Amino acid sequence: MSRSSRRYNKPPQQSNGGSLPGCDRVRIPRARVLLLGLLSVLVLAVVLSVYLSNDTSGGHGSRLPAVDLVKDRLSHKPSKVSVAQIRRLASLVDGARLWETHLRPILIERLPGTRGSLAVQQHIASTLSSLSAGWSVDLDSFQSPTPRGQVTFTNVVAVLDPAAPRRLLLACHYDSKALPPDPRAPERVFLGASDSAVPCAMILELATSLDAQLRSFKQQKLPVTLQLVFFDGEESFEEWTATDSLYGSRHLAELLANTPHPAASPHATALQAVDLFVLLDLLGGPDPLIANHFDNTARWFDRLISAEKRLHRQGLLMSHPSEQTYFRKDVYLGPVQDDHIPFLHKGVPVLHIIATPFPQFWHTLDDTEENMHRPTVENLTKIMAVFLAEYLGL
Ligand SMILES: [Zn+2]
Repeated sequence: MSRSSRRYNKPPQQSNGGSLPGCDRVRIPRARVLLLGLLSVLVLAVVLSVYLSNDTSGGHGSRLPAVDLVKDRLSHKPSKVSVAQIRRLASLVDGARLWETHLRPILIERLPGTRGSLAVQQHIASTLSSLSAGWSVDLDSFQSPTPRGQVTFTNVVAVLDPAAPRRLLLACHYDSKALPPDPRAPERVFLGASDSAVPCAMILELATSLDAQLRSFKQQKLPVTLQLVFFDGEESFEEWTATDSLYGSRHLAELLANTPHPAASPHATALQAVDLFVLLDLLGGPDPLIANHFDNTARWFDRLISAEKRLHRQGLLMSHPSEQTYFRKDVYLGPVQDDHIPFLHKGVPVLHIIATPFPQFWHTLDDTEENMHRPTVENLTKIMAVFLAEYLGL
């Protein structure tokens, strides 16, 4: 596995039809130009009719007749929590529960399609199902060819209110990477504590600590809800390629793009309902630097910076030397290939919360519980709790 293959992959090259050998771009036959013109008119007519039918379809959906998803997403305003609310949110995050109850059961080998994977799926699904907020939990299972033959993958997907028009999506991957054993210690297996057991445990702790708030939030039947996704098959089996990696996220992005979401409008898909795709990865080690990756979601990255500063000023973060320790706009080490890619390519706004540079134990047998830094994990979870409370207005 080459570190750079995942770390600093260049964005996909734009295809350049004109540079193909033997392709003459100048001499396009006139009939083809006419046909192209006719086609454009046809496409315009279809787009217009879809727009008009959207506009006049009052009565569809239980709460809102037709929502302009993009407009509502762009104009979405976070609430600003008070100092008292910040203190309350921080006090709800329980570091011991995060570690003992949520994280420990994930710290096993969990290769796709194995018993370990099944145990972790059940742990995630049963944790969410036990909460009072009332999550709808689904297992999205599918098969895919891999360099190791046909493998069964399962994404765990939970949504608080399936009937809400829009969704804030919070995601991580729960599969572990197949690493060759260490000849000196053949019994050791790769546990992927930061990659991504800790991010999964953080999401479970967020759902648990905010359970009462999420329950009353759901009862208000607001236009935005929370969706949690625990991806399977993020890791490649061999060298990272476009087809050997991101099995779960490629599958789910396609599935959501083909799933109607009438709660938003008669022609909306579940993918268009995603306001923002927030991905946690490679978290758990000490001193993470988390950079902003996308201009179109920079205002949400600013909310993370602000949450970190406000928690720091209240003395609510441990082992946290300055008010801006983790979330930084002055560093950028290049794009990272991760589960957001299939969503990004389909136009979904992404907030990528990942430590760059990668932790030094990345993709080694040392990505273990012992090398995690509990105060950092707790701090990041508190920051995310404030972020969620503000985004959703909890
Ligand atoms: Zn990995």
